[in-house]
Amino acid sequence: MKAEILGAGIGRLTMDQAVEAVTALVRASKPCRVITLNPEYLYRAATSDAALLELVRKADLVTADGEGIVWAGRVAGSPFPERVTGIDLMLRLMPKAAAEGWRIYLLGAAPGVAEEAAENLRRLHPGLQVAGTHHGYFQPAEDTAVVEDIRKAAPQLLFVALGAPKQEIWIDKYIDEIGPVVAMGVGGTFDVLAGRVARAPRWMQRLKMEWLGRLVMEPSRWRRMVVLPKFAWLVLKKYRLNLR
Ligand code: UDP
Repeated sequence: MKAEILGAGIGRLTMDQAVEAVTALVRASKPCRVITLNPEYLYRAATSDAALLELVRKADLVTADGEGIVWAGRVAGSPFPERVTGIDLMLRLMPKAAAEGWRIYLLGAAPGVAEEAAENLRRLHPGLQVAGTHHGYFQPAEDTAVVEDIRKAAPQLLFVALGAPKQEIWIDKYIDEIGPVVAMGVGGTFDVLAGRVARAPRWMQRLKMEWLGRLVMEPSRWRRMVVLPKFAWLVLKKYRLNLR
């Protein structure tokens, strides 16, 4: 079941159901796109960048990342059972990958970070097969070589940490060349997994204030947050005030 918010169809899934959905995509053994959608992306897609909205429409699975999206679901009368963020979905997929023998590939973040993230994941999930890693600071001219490296590694799961929407655009452009893989953008996840950036404390996550924790730890994020009230206004206008 999907919620339709500002033109984007977003899965109304629990985390367990999202893991099941990804499992089904892996078993389908074809190129599959997963988007964990946040308000910043959706605002841009709905107001000024139709190509981004098209990527959401094309995705095989879209989840509600961010409290803003969960809130918008309530306002639009299509509530989400819970938030399904990129980092949480990736972490939930790790024991599954280890048990099923799915290979994973980590693309993105500063040089060295994906390797460190992979090492930590392997330590946490013995048997996890990391098919490859690559940093995210390559030039467009190097795309072909990176694509070839991933294709040769033949992962079932590809996690791309280039930041949104760069990662979604990159995945869309190259996934068919890579082959049967489930690819998903995960933003700053590798920095957290490598221990370079801390996640907001659990109590903050529970109080739905992870955004505040991230702002305190990375003050430069305020620029991105100015879009949140604009997103909220757009949602209220459309679903509560019935204005265009
Ligand atoms: N990044 C990258 N290549 C780039 C730009 C960014 O690999 O050209 C990485 C960056 O090092 C960080 C992640 O992408 O690990 C972006 O994290 P952020 O939390 O900003 O992601 P968002 O929440 O915007 O998706």
